[in-house]
Amino acid sequence: MLMSDTHNTYFEFWQETASRIKDTLPEQEYMTWFNRIAYLKSGDRKVVLAGASQFILDTVIARYRDLIINTLSELTGEDLSVEFVVVPRSQIEQISSPQKPIAEQKETKTQVVLQPKVQVSEQKALRMKAESNLNPSYEFNNFVIGDNSAFAFNASLAIAKNPGVSYNPCLIYGGVGLGKTHLLSSIGNHIISNTPELKVMYVTAEMFTNEFIESIGSQKTQQFKNKFRKVDVLLIDDIHFLQGKDSTQEELFHTFNNLYESKKQMVFTCDRPISELKNITDRLSSRFERGLNVDLQPPNYETRMAILKKKLIERKASMSDEILNYIATNVCTNVRDLESSLTKLVAYSELLGQEISFDKAKELLGILPSLAANSNQTLSIDTIIKVVGEYFNVSSFEIKGKKKNKSLIQPRQIAMYLSREITEFSTTEIGTEFGGRDHTTVMHAYDRIESLMKGDESFANTVIKLKRDLTSNK
Ligand code: ADP
Ligand code: MG
Repeated sequence: MLMSDTHNTYFEFWQETASRIKDTLPEQEYMTWFNRIAYLKSGDRKVVLAGASQFILDTVIARYRDLIINTLSELTGEDLSVEFVVVPRSQIEQISSPQKPIAEQKETKTQVVLQPKVQVSEQKALRMKAESNLNPSYEFNNFVIGDNSAFAFNASLAIAKNPGVSYNPCLIYGGVGLGKTHLLSSIGNHIISNTPELKVMYVTAEMFTNEFIESIGSQKTQQFKNKFRKVDVLLIDDIHFLQGKDSTQEELFHTFNNLYESKKQMVFTCDRPISELKNITDRLSSRFERGLNVDLQPPNYETRMAILKKKLIERKASMSDEILNYIATNVCTNVRDLESSLTKLVAYSELLGQEISFDKAKELLGILPSLAANSNQTLSIDTIIKVVGEYFNVSSFEIKGKKKNKSLIQPRQIAMYLSREITEFSTTEIGTEFGGRDHTTVMHAYDRIESLMKGDESFANTVIKLKRDLTSNK
């Protein structure tokens, strides 16, 4: 959907497809078949692959056609077909690697002759990686794509392949632990590996802020400005951190304009849509919204399973499907939580030197039934009351009760507000749960909290934090 209209667009997706298949097949098997086919060209929603004989093609078609089509379709988000053609003898030798289209094979040969140059650029890539602040372990090929993330993934891949051209700036937003930093870093790592001459810089908004403040203190603001304005690709993580930081916003605004004018790529991440940020100047938020905004949603069951399996392979660990299913069913919030559940179990079984039993796994995870439920609908009002009560140090009994102390009214109203925000219950149902109150009381509480949040940032943050705690199984 994103990239179907320009010529030759699927080659990069084919590369990624081949590299994913490589990860799943035994090496020998992969070499035997995938090193004998090559990308030839792209057509309308079609990838044409070439092989040296009908025998090879028949085998590849019989064994891997579906896998190839599925992987390609997953990566592109389009229904693609794949066509296989036998190429003339003269080209057979050129089909040595699935990674290069036939038309580019000549280039490969010259590169071999110029080997020292290749090495130099590899070294350069290493150095650039070190200077970029990027976490090298976040890459596209260890990101599991699901319906929740396909759009953000495709946009990120497109940016990585054509920085400064397709979507500039780009904003990736979504809740905690959903893969924002992973995707943002993948963009940077991909660019450095493929075009080490581009200067890539990754910073969190917090690092940006701290460096800026430091530069003022040490009277090196010009140095600070230069540092961020001479990059080709600027990746800033967690820009919600900039809320209320006026002079840092001002500085970023100028950095933005500078880079934007010289067509340098910028990608930002944020924990919510820009429109929900508070205390950000309009001129900066309009810049964030200018390019492409893509969101990351929590993964569904199938994607959660796929993520768990992928992480197990990465760790060279094993675990029964029963346990994996248990985790995937119960940990529905985000990928970070999934990962930490798995880490806990893997660590335990490594310590013991044996596979872990289902009962032990359940015990170790100790998933709270009330918080583990799949969606917000199933979060009970009682749980909300309990969590809010714990936070303000008042009991559920008191929140539901009739007392009108000031110390009770606000927690009660917040709990009502959150019940309406988070669950699908009607105001009448919520009123019933709060000790049989009328639905107008709930509506009033909702409006009251909403207006308090508008006027008081720290109050708003408290409510947002509670909401996040409730919805993210923490
Ligand atoms: P965020 O920045 O949105 O809070 P991260 O990018 O830090 O989230 O992701 C949290 C953890 O989950 C990281 O270890 C990351 O590698 C992993 N992760 C997130 N999404 C995926 C995914 N789709 N596939 C594989 N790992 C993922
Ligand atoms: Mg992050």
